[in-house]
Amino acid sequence: MRFVLSAIKHETNTFSPIPTPLASFAIGRPDGVPMAGHDAVKALRGTNTPLSAFIDLAEKEGAEIVLPVAAEAAPSGLVSDEAFDKMADDVCEAVRKDCDAVFLDLHGAMVTESYDDGEGELLHRIRKVAPDLPIAVALDFHTNMSPAMAANATVIAGYLTYPHVDTYECGMRCGRTLLQALKGQVKPKIVWDKRPMLTHTLRQLTSVQPLKDILDRAIAAEAGGNVLNASVFGGFPLADIPHVGFSAVIVADDHTSAAEQLSNELLDMAWDRRADFEFDTEPLADSIARAKTLDERPIVLVDHGDNVFSGGTQDVMDTVAEAVGHGLSDMAIGPIWDPKSVTEMIEAGVGAEVTLQLGGKTDMPAIGLKGKPLKVHGTVHRITDGRYKVTCPMDTGMILNHGRSAVLDTGQAEILVCSERMEAYDLGVFRHAGIEPTAKRYLLIKSRHHFRAGFEPIAKHIVYLAGSGVTSSDYSHFQFTKIPRPIYPLDRDMRL
Ligand SMILES: [Zn+2]
Repeated sequence: MRFVLSAIKHETNTFSPIPTPLASFAIGRPDGVPMAGHDAVKALRGTNTPLSAFIDLAEKEGAEIVLPVAAEAAPSGLVSDEAFDKMADDVCEAVRKDCDAVFLDLHGAMVTESYDDGEGELLHRIRKVAPDLPIAVALDFHTNMSPAMAANATVIAGYLTYPHVDTYECGMRCGRTLLQALKGQVKPKIVWDKRPMLTHTLRQLTSVQPLKDILDRAIAAEAGGNVLNASVFGGFPLADIPHVGFSAVIVADDHTSAAEQLSNELLDMAWDRRADFEFDTEPLADSIARAKTLDERPIVLVDHGDNVFSGGTQDVMDTVAEAVGHGLSDMAIGPIWDPKSVTEMIEAGVGAEVTLQLGGKTDMPAIGLKGKPLKVHGTVHRITDGRYKVTCPMDTGMILNHGRSAVLDTGQAEILVCSERMEAYDLGVFRHAGIEPTAKRYLLIKSRHHFRAGFEPIAKHIVYLAGSGVTSSDYSHFQFTKIPRPIYPLDRDMRL
């Protein structure tokens, strides 16, 4: 048998000013195109990713692996048509050349210049080439599920964790079901539905309520064999698209009544708890003042308004300015995205004193915010290539790359500055730059929940900072024009 395996992953924040060309899917690659073929198999084998699970399943079946594209870009604005067409064409071309099954590792919240539903359009194009082909799709927990995805996939399974630590297992779950279907052992049918809820990602931690019970119910249903796969998707709220929202996707074996019942049960649980999915924002100055009173180290300060893996620019400086202004010291901060400052530090050299206009290079017109740099003075402490291997439970084994980077020591803080956008979720982000995170009093990072995968085990305290940016948890900063209305909590008094 010949299996086509691919990853095309992007979470699109439609309010983000960061463009998403093909090169964003090929960071660190000199040819500017995403990984493919043997290179991709070699790089992804043994990693905690759905694609790695697909590779293992295909090899176990003795199938020939064709891997036309393994692409992932950090969340940002709309994916360019050129990038989408190139990646979709590569997959369709491989399918056209003879293929017994397709296994896709997708995000589920990709928006392109021309398509609100990137994944739905990709699947639709594959279906046009091969109308009856079995297609397995692994999706991120932050999927905004769509009719086109459900109609064109054979099997769908989503991550059941946030932070996403079950990504390999997710690939196994949908991959195994598809193999069963190929062997004629099951007849997968997708049942799905949604509720009009814009849940806050900061209330989507899967290990605690309101989500824990809902996820446990889905996991138990799948483990008990009542359905083939059961997934719940929290949705990605920073997308002004018609199919945004909270959903459940169940894969039934031929008969769908139990799946319909389960889908309704999961979604009713979520709807009944809708108020618990709202996040109350604490004013930034109050959070910093509170952090100052804490004594045990390290104290992790989490700027959630400018979170890279939700489409943040990673260069908004207001949380850093506030922490510095309040006199916090013994801090590690970063990474801050500012290629210009990295170049200035590299040109000055290790040991040189420099004054930088740090960060704040990016305007955010969708939320009416101008970039505002922060003047900092210090010594260039270290220069790195920005690469390190992930050891935490999320993306374990992957090589992360935030480009040429440098550390500025201001006396009050060691600030890591990078030239490619990458969230801090593995301790390697600081350790590769010679900063030991456990030895610092404060670690100021830009994240939402993914940092928990690496940082929570060492954190004595976690303080959320409501910085400004395009990933703010305050929905009033965003002008939604295409999402379905009414939707909770924008229309608080709505009824179903
Ligand atoms: Zn996600």
